[in-house]
Amino acid sequence: MEEHSTFKFTWLLQPVLIAASPIIHMFVLNPDGISKSHLFFALTITTAAAAILFLLSSLFYRSLFKGALVTNILIFLFYASVPIIHNLLVPISKYYFDFTIAGIRILRIKSMLLILVLVTLFLVHRYATKLKSDFFLKLFIFPLLLFFAISLAKRTQTVQKSNSTVEQYNNLNQTFRDTVLKQLPQTTKNKNFPDIYFIILDCYNSQEYYSKMCGFDNTPFLDQLKSRGFHIPVKTHSNYGATLQSLSSILNMNYLPKHIQPTPFEHMWKNNNVSFFLKKLGYKYLDLYRNSLEQCKNNLKCNRSLWQELKHELNLFCFDYYSIGRYFLQAWTPLYQFISFYKESLRQTIKLKLNMLNESTKLQSQKFVYAHFMIPHPPHVFTEDGSPFSPDNSKPELESALYGHVESTKYVNREIIKSIDIILKNSKTPPIIILQGDHGYDYTYGKSNWSKYQILNSYHLPQGGNKKLYPSITPVNSFRIIFNHYFGTKLPLLVDRIATKEN
Ligand SMILES: [Zn+2]
Repeated sequence: MEEHSTFKFTWLLQPVLIAASPIIHMFVLNPDGISKSHLFFALTITTAAAAILFLLSSLFYRSLFKGALVTNILIFLFYASVPIIHNLLVPISKYYFDFTIAGIRILRIKSMLLILVLVTLFLVHRYATKLKSDFFLKLFIFPLLLFFAISLAKRTQTVQKSNSTVEQYNNLNQTFRDTVLKQLPQTTKNKNFPDIYFIILDCYNSQEYYSKMCGFDNTPFLDQLKSRGFHIPVKTHSNYGATLQSLSSILNMNYLPKHIQPTPFEHMWKNNNVSFFLKKLGYKYLDLYRNSLEQCKNNLKCNRSLWQELKHELNLFCFDYYSIGRYFLQAWTPLYQFISFYKESLRQTIKLKLNMLNESTKLQSQKFVYAHFMIPHPPHVFTEDGSPFSPDNSKPELESALYGHVESTKYVNREIIKSIDIILKNSKTPPIIILQGDHGYDYTYGKSNWSKYQILNSYHLPQGGNKKLYPSITPVNSFRIIFNHYFGTKLPLLVDRIATKEN
């Protein structure tokens, strides 16, 4: 121990730097996509966490050197946890340890991670004093640098590739835009177009799925929709089996161009055709999926206390789809289960977005509101009455998951009906509402093709719009029908089909 008895400032500096560097790295790679406040927030949290970890482990070992060493290793494990889990722990658990005692699964990923951490603590305790110098500490910098170099190179490659596919896509899409622009009303004066609400409940299934797979009868909810003027086509399905594909297709009123690879999803989503045309018609576009806090602050004037504001900021930071926190916290995925905060955050985020949807109805201007809710998408966090849901581990996994799916569905049913009533009440002109699942809940992870495409697809199209619907309509045609009926375009309907790689 003697050679490590004097504290060196670098011992504290190193863990802090190691903890902060992936975040700085991500920011450098994607400066436009990350807000400065989120960057600052992420840096504060990580550096503080590293310093606290260093302090605690030094106290634990009563040695600053060991504290620094173990902090370095743990931070490294933390950032590397995803590959470690996928390449090491998952295969081990599959082949050797996945057995149950009295219905309780023993030694699954979480326990193995814990063992890994304990072994690390022990090894440091046992052997750290044998290290002659703190050279070993510096070793952690090398994989870090290597990691940065590789990912920078990869990133440069993807940026180059996606720039060229964006260009290809824009050329292709321009023809479509020109055609539609010619057909749209040239003047919007004295036109009283209805507000449009596009509500996506991620992973929401069809009645057929719920009854077949879950033994759950969802017809009372569908009846509630129908009594409010919704039309629910019976032979519908989603065109794609995943969120990115579905939404990129729906919001652009087209199937994805197969010859353009990789598909520029991000670009297609951000600059989607539907919002582009609607803005031309004088609509305000409210995207409650991205930048939701900004939207909320600028447009919706939500009255909230400072604490609520902070919590919201924290939620968005950690779990909003486009935040740095989400990317950085992906390293935590397996640890999420430990943290009740995570699930509470998901609950709060869903509630906030519901609230924002309700608030959006008060906006005076003509609007297109795109509200996307990560429910009943797993992880399931709500029971029917809105209290926290926790999975029943004594039940087989599938049964427990489907049960959670139904509970989330029942919860969101009740909340979304409330929102729809608010929308209907606050709309001066009867509004257009699409309430849809983007894809189904595929618990079999690709083994069953059927469930992926089993979605709820419902339309509230006033002033005769419902009559343009037909039993086998799929989401790719939703906005074509709406544009044709309300804005006088003559867009041909596309063949309703499932668009997989093969067809
Ligand atoms: Zn989805």
